[in-house]
Amino acid sequence: MKSNLENPAAGLTELQAMVGREGPSFEGPDPVNTAMIRHWCAAIGDRNPAYTQPRHDARTQWQGVIAPPAMLQAWVMPGFGVPPADNDPIAQFHKRSAELGYSSIVATNCEQEYLRPLRLGDRVSVRKRIEAVSDEKRTALGAGIFLTSRFTFTDGDGHEVARMLHRVLKFKPGQPGASAAVPGDAPTALRPRPNLTHDNAFYFEAARERRLLIQRCTGCARLRHPPTAACAHCGALGWDTVQSRGLGTLFSYTVIDAPVVPPFKPGHVVGLVELEEGVRVVAELVDVARDEVAIGMPLEVAFLQCDPQLVLPVFRPRADLPVVMIGSERAIAFPGAGVQALPRTVTPDDVRVGARLARLEVPMTRSYIVASAMATRDYQDVHHDPDLARARGSQDVFLNILTTNGLVGRQVTDAFGPNAQLRKLAIKLGATAYPGDTLVIDGQVIEKQAAPSGGVDVKVRIRGTVSRGEHVSGQVWLRLPAAGETA
Ligand SMILES: [Zn+2]
Repeated sequence: MKSNLENPAAGLTELQAMVGREGPSFEGPDPVNTAMIRHWCAAIGDRNPAYTQPRHDARTQWQGVIAPPAMLQAWVMPGFGVPPADNDPIAQFHKRSAELGYSSIVATNCEQEYLRPLRLGDRVSVRKRIEAVSDEKRTALGAGIFLTSRFTFTDGDGHEVARMLHRVLKFKPGQPGASAAVPGDAPTALRPRPNLTHDNAFYFEAARERRLLIQRCTGCARLRHPPTAACAHCGALGWDTVQSRGLGTLFSYTVIDAPVVPPFKPGHVVGLVELEEGVRVVAELVDVARDEVAIGMPLEVAFLQCDPQLVLPVFRPRADLPVVMIGSERAIAFPGAGVQALPRTVTPDDVRVGARLARLEVPMTRSYIVASAMATRDYQDVHHDPDLARARGSQDVFLNILTTNGLVGRQVTDAFGPNAQLRKLAIKLGATAYPGDTLVIDGQVIEKQAAPSGGVDVKVRIRGTVSRGEHVSGQVWLRLPAAGETA
């Protein structure tokens, strides 16, 4: 060896041996308090009265101020100029991985689960644990390893109040990985031919005429699908067909990533669609992103010309249904300025799968980026010092993750109102938000189900973009109390 570089495999083994390392409980410097909450709400732009108005009891279910759930980490940030403790396992990992060449860091995922609202006076402590260390991966940024850490938050009595999983990429800057081998699109590959029989040929012939036909028993008039020779109900062999209106809802689905079989692309979605007429049809779903697919979503048939010989029925989201908005008036009234009015309370009946949340647009001024970093108690220089940010390879200061978390939380409570209880937030981070840009966050309800305690549990998909691309995507779980429980 002509250099004194350490054996990379041994270094990685050493880092992976840190999995399971756990630090002591660290108590945040200040109890949950109105000053920090007010500062955070002002910086983030969150006007939810549940966080700031001591006398809002008549309008919310909280009976006293609660801390913004997405503010969670702010309570245990050490503060300005305080170095990480020697026994902090995450700090140990960062130090050692930097020595091994993985000197740059970018956060990729954050998942927070809120077990109960935090209230004034709560003393929040955190315990950090190294949960997983990946093998070295080639990424667009360079060769790197993913570190997953688990944070457990407890109150003054030692009861768990929240959990967080955090994932970062530690990478060697300036060594962009060769793009991973992706199987070619193989444009000449044709879809597999259907295995035609006397009983099922009608289905594919009708598809060529852009009609969706269903087999009907001439003995008992029951519809059946997939086609069969005899009726399972009455045993009759005679059948004819009826034309379906092509409208239905998604009963179940699967997303196929592997194996990659051309001409299919990874991530194509296959649904089990329950037609209005009562039978279920397996077909590809089109015009819908995989994370927008939701059981129960209204669908309509379309016909896909796969190649000159083959036409297949496929399904897409129904275009004729009006888009249901939650908080739409506010978004329309104040385009570009975010939600201005006080949020109202949304009742469970207002919520429909597929409903879109009022768009949140946040101009990324330099002041906003700096003020929100301070309000989340994140004093990393890349969020407030442009020269130091550039020295670290960034084009300018940029929005910190704690603020992204806060904005995702705000997007949801702006739309659903002060009684919405944020229960979990899971985000994936992408394009950096720099000064001069605008962060635009959209949301859509993808699941709704009865909550054990009354009310409903709602799952929302969110996506926030800046001019460089997708800044954040993910899901938020919230609970709405039963209509009667809110004033
Ligand atoms: Zn029959």
